[in-house]
Amino acid sequence: MQQSEIVERISELRRSRKAIILAHTYTLPEVQEVADFVGDSYGLSKKAAKIGECESIVFAGVRFMAETAKILSPEKRVLLPAPTAGCRMADMIDGPSLAALKAEHPNATVVCYVNSTVEIKALSDVCVTSSNAVKIVGRIENDEILFVPDKNLGGFVAEHYPKKRFIFWDGFCPVHNFINPDAVLALKNEHPDAKVLMHPECAPESRELADYLISTGQMVDLVAEKRFRKYIIITESGIMHALRLADPDAEFYSLPPKDLLCPNMKKINLRNILETLEGHEHEVRVDEDMRVKALKSLEKMLELAG
Ligand code: SF4
Repeated sequence: MQQSEIVERISELRRSRKAIILAHTYTLPEVQEVADFVGDSYGLSKKAAKIGECESIVFAGVRFMAETAKILSPEKRVLLPAPTAGCRMADMIDGPSLAALKAEHPNATVVCYVNSTVEIKALSDVCVTSSNAVKIVGRIENDEILFVPDKNLGGFVAEHYPKKRFIFWDGFCPVHNFINPDAVLALKNEHPDAKVLMHPECAPESRELADYLISTGQMVDLVAEKRFRKYIIITESGIMHALRLADPDAEFYSLPPKDLLCPNMKKINLRNILETLEGHEHEVRVDEDMRVKALKSLEKMLELAG
C-alpha cells in the first residue's frame, strides 16, 4: 500500500472507531503529520484527559507516555502501536530499588520525572516534567529531595537550590547523556549568532553551553515567537519537524541526526498505527491500585504547578 493510501485509511478508521492519535515530537515526521495532536508527553496526556467524546487513544510514543495517559484517563482504551517501544531511562530503575532507596532516606520527598514507569510514579510523592521541575521542587518545603530516575534533570534542578540536599538515582537518557560537548562547541563557533536550545536531560558539560535549557514543548513555543532567526537545537532529532513548522523561515543547526536518535521513538510508523486501528491492538493496562497511587503523584504535580 502506498503512503497516501495508508494515511487515507488511517483517517477513515480514526473517525469510525472514535479514536484520536497523539504523537510525541520525537516521532517520525509522517507520524506527526497524521496525529490529531503533537506535543511532549505530559502535554499529550493532559490533552487526552480533556477529550470527552473519543473512545480510544492511539499513543504514538513510548510506553511510559501511554501509561501516563491511562493513569489520567482510565475509562479510555489507550493503544500503543509499537508495544516494544520502551524508554531506556525509565527502565533504569525498578520498584524494589526505589523502595530500598526510600528506606535509606525515610525523610526525603520523592520526586520522579514523568519519564518513569507507573510503578515508580506510584512510589513517589510528586511527579515533574522537564518544563516544571525547577518550579515544583522550589515549592516543596522539605529540604531533602530524592530525585529519580534522571540524574541530569535532577542535577539541573539542584543547581537552582544550593540549600537543599539532593539524592539522585544514577539514571539518564542515553540520547542526551552522550552528546559530545566538543561537537556542540564546534557548532557554536560555526554559528556564533545562533541561540542554543538544549534539553535539560543533557549532561552538565553540555548544559553549560546552552542559552536555553528547556523542554521540547518550550522549544516549539520559543521558536514560534520568532524572536531569533538562528538556532542550534540539541535534543532528539524528531523535534526538527515541529520547529520548522513553528517558524519556516528560521535557520536550524544541529548535530547529525544519527547522534540524536531515540530508536524506540522511531519504532512507531504509519503501518503500525494503521494495524492498531484495524484491530491488531496492544492495549495498555495498568493495575488499578497502582494507577490510583500514581495518579496522586501527578495530581500533586498539578497542585504545586498551579
Ligand atoms: S529520548 Fe531518552 S528519555 Fe526520551 S524516550 Fe528515548 S530514551 Fe527515553
